[in-house]
Amino acid sequence: MTTDFAATRALFHLPEGIVYLDGNSLGPLPVAARTRVADAVTAEWGEMLITGWNRAGWMDLPRRVGDRIGRLIGADPGTVVMGDTLSIKVYQALASALELVPQRRVILSDTGNFPSDLYMADGLVRTLGQGYALKTVAPEEVEAAIDGSVAVLMLTEVDYRTGRKHDMARLTAKAHAAGALTVWDLAHSAGALPVDLAGCGADFAVGCSYKYLNSGPGGPAFIYVAPRHADTARPALSGWLGHEAPFAFDLDYRPGAGIERMRVGTPPILQLAALDAAMDAWDIADIHDVRARSIDLSEAFIARVEAACPMLSLASPRDPAARGSQVSFRHPEGYAIMQALIAEGVIGDFRAPDILRFGFTPLYIGMAEVEAAADTLARIMASEAWNRADYKRRARVT
Ligand SMILES: *Cc1c(COP(=O)(O)O)cnc(C)c1O
Repeated sequence: MTTDFAATRALFHLPEGIVYLDGNSLGPLPVAARTRVADAVTAEWGEMLITGWNRAGWMDLPRRVGDRIGRLIGADPGTVVMGDTLSIKVYQALASALELVPQRRVILSDTGNFPSDLYMADGLVRTLGQGYALKTVAPEEVEAAIDGSVAVLMLTEVDYRTGRKHDMARLTAKAHAAGALTVWDLAHSAGALPVDLAGCGADFAVGCSYKYLNSGPGGPAFIYVAPRHADTARPALSGWLGHEAPFAFDLDYRPGAGIERMRVGTPPILQLAALDAAMDAWDIADIHDVRARSIDLSEAFIARVEAACPMLSLASPRDPAARGSQVSFRHPEGYAIMQALIAEGVIGDFRAPDILRFGFTPLYIGMAEVEAAADTLARIMASEAWNRADYKRRARVT
């Protein structure tokens, strides 16, 4: 398949005059989501009322959309389900994984992981007591730290700050050889690069849909459980929709079959409608083509920025194979520089303490925009246009 990127670009609404390099944080609006959500509101909720759960297929939507995401991440049909936020899915995957390795107590992660993943692990450890512990090491030290004490290796494949990418196949094999299970967070992988969960033998995986999958703010997360665990993993968040027979209203909890048991409560139908529309892009886009093009775009951006801005230092791995789909530069005034860029219509974001982060999303961003963004950054650096008090005042979301 050769992806027609002009055709995928036409599927998204992007405001006039904006170069959007933050699809790694919040994907833009898919044009089809407008009508899909409007239909879900008007024709389904409005007209069908509660009968929509059956007549509009609402109850099956978390699985149906999960299968569409599954195709992008190497997960077989029936192994992915949508629901809740990513933080919740991290907790859920981790709790189930720990229970499958009952003789061990250590969760191994790295200091580059997204704080919420570590916070959730920490909260779970506190709840469990009994000597459970979260151990974090530097990302490059993870492999050496996998030993016979580790119950679960919990990692985010692509580092949210630097874009550094772990070798999922290698680390999963190492964990399994040591008798541990794996929980992979694909927040910055799903829709950005090819992932082969089944091929890597990953045990659990989770990820969000509002970044590279464009479901909109607050869109639900996904969870994957390898088929070999799906009927033995016990759900820690044992909500009624993960029950074998929710509408039997039994007082005792019996987990549903396979991935169904990872559902918790009532799914967010309006957000799932937006996500379902967003997933249409992948009917005409091939993830391998997207990856190849994102490398072209990010290499061009790095070359152009480095040539013009010696005061910015590359925070991302130089080898594109060792990165996800984002590029980060460091500068002590990174926050103010990003505000100046946004004022000029180039939207990226800032991650403390000093990271300017740019996401490359070929579905709707092309080379001309990437070059224009680099040139705008060069202009701002040369003129020090960022050096203004109002650009240094931190907003609530950075
Ligand atoms: C974006 C992101 C999150 C956010 O979690 P929410 O619960 O959806 O807010 C968590 N973990 C990682 C690795 C992320 O990149």
